Amino acid sequence: MGNSSSPTSSATTKFTQMKKYHIGKSNIHGKGIILDQDIKKDETIFLFLGREIIFTSGNWFYGPNWLQIGYAKWIKPKPGSAGNYLNHSCSPTAGIHGKNKIVAMRNLKKGEEVTIDYALNETYPLWHMQCHCKAKNCRKVVKPYQDMPSWRMKKYIKYTSQYILDMKMHLSWKEYIALKTEKINNLKI
Ligand SMILES: [Zn+2]
Repeated sequence: MGNSSSPTSSATTKFTQMKKYHIGKSNIHGKGIILDQDIKKDETIFLFLGREIIFTSGNWFYGPNWLQIGYAKWIKPKPGSAGNYLNHSCSPTAGIHGKNKIVAMRNLKKGEEVTIDYALNETYPLWHMQCHCKAKNCRKVVKPYQDMPSWRMKKYIKYTSQYILDMKMHLSWKEYIALKTEKINNLKI
């Protein structure tokens, strides 16, 4: 049974890596993800795993710690997985690459908490959250991505959910039109 003799099976064997964190007391809220080792800028800390929830009507609801990955699509973190403990900070240590890869935003030290800015993956217009993250630049109320000032969008562009980047929401109307015009001009007729 199976295809263990297949020549491709060794190449597709899952590479299992040691966990780089443990779940411990957070300085922000409840439990958090605490690093067990130093991490380099842009290094992957973990993959946010869980069930993908897609809403087809406007009747949306979602739970704490869900990660938005599309216009009407979220990942509900697997029970017990790191995603359940990924706290928000207005001065985050980590961000998102692609759909669900949580990466370091700067060189991090063992003992630091892994946090993201929830606004970098959330566009649901009615979503907002009171914040007590204790960061000097705490926004007090965190709102969806589109409510962020453009300087902040640009500052964190490398750590923003791919679906948001695809929506080009970080561009001003002028930049957006310029991009479209450039595309039209480059069309080979
Ligand atoms: Zn805050």
